[in-house]
Amino acid sequence: MDLPQKISLREVGPRDGLQNEDPVPTDAKVALLDRLSVTGVKRIEAVSFVRPDAIPQMADADEVWKRAAKAPDIRYSALVPNLRGAIRAMDAGFTELEAVVSASETHNRKNVNRSTGQSLDEIAEIIAMAHERDATVQVIVSTAWGCPYEGDVPVERTVSVVGRAITDGADSTSFGDTTGMATPARVRALVGAFRAKYPEQNLNLHFHNTRGTGLANVLAALELGVSDFDASVGGLGGCPYAPGATGNIATEELVHMVEDMGVDTGIDLEAMIDAAADAERIIGRTLPSQVLRAGPRTRTIPA
Ligand code: ZN
Repeated sequence: MDLPQKISLREVGPRDGLQNEDPVPTDAKVALLDRLSVTGVKRIEAVSFVRPDAIPQMADADEVWKRAAKAPDIRYSALVPNLRGAIRAMDAGFTELEAVVSASETHNRKNVNRSTGQSLDEIAEIIAMAHERDATVQVIVSTAWGCPYEGDVPVERTVSVVGRAITDGADSTSFGDTTGMATPARVRALVGAFRAKYPEQNLNLHFHNTRGTGLANVLAALELGVSDFDASVGGLGGCPYAPGATGNIATEELVHMVEDMGVDTGIDLEAMIDAAADAERIIGRTLPSQVLRAGPRTRTIPA
């Protein structure tokens, strides 16, 4: 097995995580961001610039970002749903934007009331405008492995959606397993097809552990040489389509597994576990992370 020596994790708890939990106070969001900024993680998805009436969890994005201690060596990104959001994000100082489109037509329509083609048209405009202002855009293809309305999404469909974004100048791309439908075999199929067509394109992967395959999918992707992954502290952020189910894979679980395999994440595991304990206190519910419960594998108890 030839795994990458080093990978880059993007911590998505402050945005993807908190957006899928009950709203928490601004102070708590700032505290979580600052806590994560001292764990060694080098990429953080900080906020999203969405309509406050649509997503109250992110209504204070400007305020959170203003008050957060921004570490100079961390790349912070903001998710933007449209051109207006992109302008807000860049006005707030972000130079890394994320734009999302669903591979599944039905999921895209349910989410943003538009076809994937219409979303891709607007993403092309976001990319053009971001580039004028020296910002970059990562295009995230959600429901890349499956859709809660349509079921399996064919590999060709996901590759064609991401292909349009690449043609339009996306600086990087990401596949999101929105409802945890991926398995290692499906990871190999999609990443293989993507790599065959776009060998030079940077690829980030975003797995959910909804059906228990999250870390297995990470391992399958590592074996294919993928080195950029999303994860959420404590596993923050449930599954919006299955109440009570798990969503994001937990950052400390990913770090715990891969570091023992000789893959460097740059993250201090103990610091990330502490941040997960904080996240759990902030959110007021038990988070799904098993490493948060059990501690690192080398933890001992008095004999
Ligand atoms: Zn997620």
